[in-house]
Amino acid sequence: MGNLARGCLPGVLAWLHCGSSEKKGTTMTRLLFWLILFALAWWFWRKATRPQRPAAKPRDEQAEPMVRCAQCGVHVPRAQALQNEQRWYCSQAHLQQDQTRHG
Ligand SMILES: [Zn+2]
Repeated sequence: MGNLARGCLPGVLAWLHCGSSEKKGTTMTRLLFWLILFALAWWFWRKATRPQRPAAKPRDEQAEPMVRCAQCGVHVPRAQALQNEQRWYCSQAHLQQDQTRHG
């Protein structure tokens, strides 16, 4: 503490402005301090100027359970699919086609 204060400004300011360069280590530390300070400033500046990303939009298509058409293999949302017993179909036409094929 005694080396840093030197009767100038207290704390870090004293260390930065009034600290002696007698010790090389002190100079290096001061340099490092400024580097980190600039890095932080740069980081904050980048963060401030960067356009904010909109919140992750909900992906309805993926949230909704998908089923596979037993006739053509197309994946369709279950809400839009047609069910016949254990099978799902993308359209009424495919449902009927599959029934005809199996029937
Ligand atoms: Zn289909």
